[in-house]
Order: sequence, then C-alpha cells, then structure tokens
Amino acid sequence: MAREYKDGEQCPLCIGKLKETSVTEKFTYKGKELEYPGYIVHECDRCGEQFVGKKTMKASAKRLRDFYREVDGLLTSCQIKEIRLKLGLNQGAASELLGGGAKSFARYENCDVIQSEAMDNLLRVLKDSPDLLKVIENKNKPTSTTVIQFQAKFGQVIQGTLVVNYGK
Ligand SMILES: [Zn+2]
Repeated sequence: MAREYKDGEQCPLCIGKLKETSVTEKFTYKGKELEYPGYIVHECDRCGEQFVGKKTMKASAKRLRDFYREVDGLLTSCQIKEIRLKLGLNQGAASELLGGGAKSFARYENCDVIQSEAMDNLLRVLKDSPDLLKVIENKNKPTSTTVIQFQAKFGQVIQGTLVVNYGK
C-alpha cells in the first residue's frame, strides 16, 4: 500500500536516507508517451531506490486520466467543464440532468472518473446544439427548487429558466 515518505527518513531497503526529489517521469499508454515534470519521489542516497508517496500517486493518477482521455479521443476535464459552462449548468445540475450518477460532473472535472463514451458523445452533441438540452429537461420533468439560468456562452439565452431538483 502506498504511504507517505519523509525527507531524511531511513530507506526501507537499506541504511541510507531518503531525499525528496522532483523528477520528470514518463508514462506510456497505447504507444503514446506523457512527460510528467514535477513528479515527487524520495530517493535513497545509498542504494538509489526511488519511493513514490501516496500524494504523488494520487496527483499523477488524476493527470493520467486526462492523458488516457486524450489518447482515447475523449473530452478532457477542461473540455467537459467548458461545455457544462456553455450549457449554463453547475456541476450538480449537469449530473442531475445528463446522468452519470450523483456528483458525476464533479468527478469528471476533477479527474476522479473518466466519462463513458456515451456521456462523451452526449456532451459533444450538446456542445454543438445546446438547445437540445430541452429534450432531456422534458424527459426528466424537473420537480423542485433550484432555478438555473440558461445562458449560452454566445450571449443568447437558450431558455429562460429551468427548475431542477438535484442534490436532494
Ligand atoms: Zn536504500
């Protein structure tokens, strides 16, 4: 299991001391390479072994998810956010309306989860034709309290207001 390492800590493998070092790590996915600068490791001054702490692993896992998306031809976290904002939705409303489970958009945009291909396709369609959101809104028959202003990025109002029920 991953854990954190500290500067000056004894090497788990020998009597050397660990030193925090920033390296450029290379990752490969489907033949494509990603260079990841600022990858923090703890290197032993005696045996040279490098240890990767929990925090570095977590941060790189997020960065890697965007890399996988790029390689697989899926929208990146930034592109998803851009489309959501273009639709005038906050994360909660986007999850409620478009699906993917509770907090799905927070997870997509935070690189915790990679969107399905179906969600990716839906977002591409909505990016091109934001007014199609009406179709989903009608289907979902939103019931309650949160009023969201729909405003296209291009200044044109797609729809005055929409009431959705999200977050319970
Ligand atoms: Zn060592």
